[in-house]
Formats: sequence, C-alpha cells, structure tokens
Amino acid sequence: MSAVEVSGVTKVFEVRSGRGAPRPRSSSTVRALDDVSLTVAEGEFVALIGPSGCGKSTLMRLIADLDEPSSGDVRVFGMPARRARLERAYGIAFQQSGLLPWRTVRANVELPLQLHGAPAADRRARADELIELVGLTEFADRHPDELSGGMQQRVAIARALAEHPRLLLMDEPFGALDEMTRERLQGELLRIRAETGAAVVFVTHSIPEAVFLADRVVVMSPRPGRITDIVAVERAPIAAGPGADAVRETDAFFRSVTAVREALHGREGAAPRGAEAR
Ligand code: ADP
Ligand code: MG
Repeated sequence: MSAVEVSGVTKVFEVRSGRGAPRPRSSSTVRALDDVSLTVAEGEFVALIGPSGCGKSTLMRLIADLDEPSSGDVRVFGMPARRARLERAYGIAFQQSGLLPWRTVRANVELPLQLHGAPAADRRARADELIELVGLTEFADRHPDELSGGMQQRVAIARALAEHPRLLLMDEPFGALDEMTRERLQGELLRIRAETGAAVVFVTHSIPEAVFLADRVVVMSPRPGRITDIVAVERAPIAAGPGADAVRETDAFFRSVTAVREALHGREGAAPRGAEAR
C-alpha cells in the first residue's frame, strides 16, 4: 500500500477581480493543479520543489483534506483523504509553527492528544518522549516566545508526531530559519524519520534541502501547476547520524543538486522543450 496516491488531480480556483464597486464584477479561474498524479510509498521521503504559485501548498492541502480537488482522487494509506484525516493518519507541520503562545512547550505537544481524549498521564509521557526526541527536554516548561525560531519548529515537529503518524506533511517548515539552524534541523528530521519510519511529503524552495532530505524530488511548474520532473536522489552510502552532514560534500550530492537545478531551469523561461537546442 502507498502512503499517498494522488491520481489525475485538478484544482481550479475561482478568482474574482474588479474589486471596485462601479465596475461589473468579472471572474476568472486559476488552474492551481492540472492533472497531477503522484505516489508516495510507505516510509518514503518526497520533496516538492518549484517556483511560487506552482501549486505545492494546494497539493499539500488536498492531501491533508483541508480542501477538495475539482477532479481526480486523493488516497492516504488507501483511504479517501477525508477518512485519513478523521483517523489522524498524518501529522502536519507548516511554515508558521502554529504554537499556542499561552501554552508551555509540553502543553503544546500534548494538545492533539488532549483534543482526542487521551488520559493525562499518557499525554504527559508521550509529550516528554517527543520533547526528548527533538532535544528540548530542558525547555518543556517554557513558553514559545522564550524559544528561538528553530526551537519553535522543533516543537511543531514534536506535536506533529504526537499520534504516531505514518505520514508527515511539511510545507516549508524551515523556510523562516537561518541557514545553520536549517541544516541542523534537516539532520534532526532525517534522524527522527529513521526512528519513526514515517513517510514524509516536504515542500521547499531550497534545492540542497530537497536533495539532502528526499529519496525523490518532485519538480513542479506553474500556470497551470504541473509535475514536470521527478528526480531520484543518488544516495552516498552515509546514513543518518553524526556523519550525515558529510553527505553534502559528496559527488553524488552535487550530481543530484545539478539534476534538480536543470529540471527546474528547463521551465524557467517558459520556453518550449527543445527551444534552446535550436
Ligand atoms: P505554491 O505553494 O507552490 O506557492 P499555491 O498552491 O499556494 O502555490 O498556489 C497555486 C496557485 O493557486 C497560485 O496561483 C495561487 O494564487 C492560487 N491559489 C491558491 N489558493 C487559492 C485560493 N484559495 N483562491 C484562489 N487562488 C488560490
Ligand atoms: Mg506554498
């Protein structure tokens, strides 16, 4: 069974223009996604990359059942997206950590468990285990505004993992962080993923981030939003762990970075395929 199966999905948004009252209201449509199909295997890490407006967030929202496709089908672990949401088959971490400022780190991580009626002692034990997993044990009783941005994102990841999801949906979770914090969290995410075995769908603008994290990098282009390439990442034989950063300096890493960059640049001028050759 696959973690995610997106089949022939199109998403069209109605956009109303002509804000001014005197003008008649005109309406047009945006094809945010056009006939998109993608399968993510159980335990697989897939990165989505592409310029702004190519439909990455829309695709994530459809997988998470935060919106519905205009046509086509989305399945999560074989279930319709709606049922997967009700069964809490996935955890979500987006660019804004979305932490509640009045709750401590521990209480934020406990929140989904509390909402779903887990007993207090179980909640606490699970939250403490996750807070340790993301390296924040000393900060369990602090509030979000006492933490750095990177630490807040780690809390958000811990919270996303609270209910043992087999799938994590992450939309630019490290987008607002400085490069050093970002690289550290990427390493941590790989470690966490190795420990939990969860599949991950991860949106990013960063080519090195996509290549460092993912098994496959899905390249998208806008107007209409489409998948234009899928690059299988060459893995150097260095696993997650303290030496994981060495991967960034291997030839295999550079080859994959180049492959993704070429896949992206092929669309940038919106030139038809083969135009450069002429
Ligand atoms: P990305 O995350 O890749 O930057 P999005 O999925 O956010 O792209 O958006 C894809 C396209 O769909 C954009 O043109 C965007 O303006 C449009 N869009 C997204 N959400 C809506 C919405 N709720 N209403 C109208 N247009 C939308
Ligand atoms: Mg987006």
